[in-house]
Amino acid sequence: MEGSVEMNKNICLICGYNELEERPYYSDFAGSNEICPCCGFEFGMDDFDCDEFDHEGLTDKEIVEKSHDIWRKQWIENGIELFNPKIFSPEVRNGKFLKRDYLVLQMKKNLGLDFNDI
Ligand SMILES: [Zn+2]
Repeated sequence: MEGSVEMNKNICLICGYNELEERPYYSDFAGSNEICPCCGFEFGMDDFDCDEFDHEGLTDKEIVEKSHDIWRKQWIENGIELFNPKIFSPEVRNGKFLKRDYLVLQMKKNLGLDFNDI
């Protein structure tokens, strides 16, 4: 399922955070407008508003997936800043190295993504 959009779970499709309050998207790719407390992505906003690539000729699914890949990459490169650190344990909050370990597990478990491939 690597790279595919999982529509039926409240899992962040960027970072694998699995306690979102809503599913990221409805069946027609309308976003929930929930902001992931982990990676800060807003579904329905940061996808279709992403101007890092040309949307022309792409399906909604392709736009959404591409924006996720771009956000994920930038978020990691920018130091894995937690959007709402308060909800995470101190072990996760403190220090990039621990956050990275936590993220590797979360992505693997919930998204089937290998951190090293990102
Ligand atoms: Zn996230």
